[in-house]
Amino acid sequence: MNAFTINRRAVMLSAVVGASGMFLAGGGGIANAQAMMTPASGNAGHYRFRIGEIRATVLSDGVIGGPPRVYASDAPEAELQEVLRRAFLPTDHMTLNLNTLLIETGGRRILIEAGAGGTMGPNGGRIFENLAAIGLGPADIDTIVISHTHPDHVGNLRTADGGKAFPRATVFLPKADWDFFVRTDPDLSYMPVPEDFRLRFAAAIKSSLEPVMNDVELYEAGAEIVPGLTTIVASGHTPGMATFLVHSGNDQLLLTADLAYHPVVNVDNPWRPGPDRDKETALASRRRIFDRAAADRIPVLGFHFPFPGLGRMLETDGVYAWVPAGWQF
Ligand SMILES: [Zn+2]
Repeated sequence: MNAFTINRRAVMLSAVVGASGMFLAGGGGIANAQAMMTPASGNAGHYRFRIGEIRATVLSDGVIGGPPRVYASDAPEAELQEVLRRAFLPTDHMTLNLNTLLIETGGRRILIEAGAGGTMGPNGGRIFENLAAIGLGPADIDTIVISHTHPDHVGNLRTADGGKAFPRATVFLPKADWDFFVRTDPDLSYMPVPEDFRLRFAAAIKSSLEPVMNDVELYEAGAEIVPGLTTIVASGHTPGMATFLVHSGNDQLLLTADLAYHPVVNVDNPWRPGPDRDKETALASRRRIFDRAAADRIPVLGFHFPFPGLGRMLETDGVYAWVPAGWQF
C-alpha cells in the first residue's frame, strides 16, 4: 500500500525465504483445485464482532503456507492426498491464514499475535493496510500479546529498517519461549524442513524481537494479561505456547494459536503438525483445549484457519469436526 510496506516485504523476503523456496505461498502447481476460481483483489481483510462489552476485529496479515505433509506429519500419504482432494484443496501446497485479533477493552487496544510480515514468504505483512482500513495505525496499539515466538507470530514487530513497527506497544511473550528461542541458539532439528530453512527461521525470530527487547513483558501461561484476556497453558508446539480466552459477561472466545494449522488436517482429521517440538505434550494440549471448546460450545478463533477463522469445535465419540461460524454483516 505504500513504500514502507513494499520495502518491508522486499527486505524480509530476501532475509528469510531462500534457495529452497519451500514455504513460498502460492508456489508450484496449485493447478486443478483452484483453476476454476479467478483470484480477486480488494476484498476485506478485517472482520468485526463483539465478545460481550469487548470490541473485537480479526485483522488478516495475509497468508503463508507450505507442503501439506509439514502440517500433517503422521498422515498416511494416500489418505492425506484423498482428504485434500475431497476438501477441494491443492495436494501440493497448503495455504495458512494469519488471523491476528484486535480487542478494544478498558481503554486499551490489544493485538493478539503480531503476524508474519515478510518472514515466511511474500504474502504476509498485510496487517498494516488492514489496520488502516479500520482507521488505525501501528501507534494506536497499546499492547501486543504473542502465543509463541515463531516468526509468523512475531515477524511484524520489526520494520524494514530495524525499528519498532508498533512504537508504543508493550509486547507480552511466554517466558519459556524467550528462554528457548531468544536466550540460546535453539536446536530445531525436530522441524521437518531443510537445514537452511531452520537457520533462517531461528534468525527471523531473533531479528523480529530485537527492536522490542526493552519493551517485553514475559508471562507464564495461565496468567491474566488484562481483565478479560487470560492465557492458557498449551505447551508442546513450543516450550511456552499459550492459547487465550477472551471473556466479557457471558461471552467467550477461545483462541487456539497453533494447536492446529488447518481444520481439514488437524481437526477433522487428527494428524499432528510436524513443527510440534514435543509431539505428545502438544497432543495432550490439543485434546484438553479442543475438549473444553466442544463441551462448553465456546466460539473459537483459529490463527491459521481460513479467514476470519471463527467457528466451533464439535466432538462426537472422541472425533472432532470444525464448524465455521456464519458471516455477520
Ligand atoms: Zn503459526
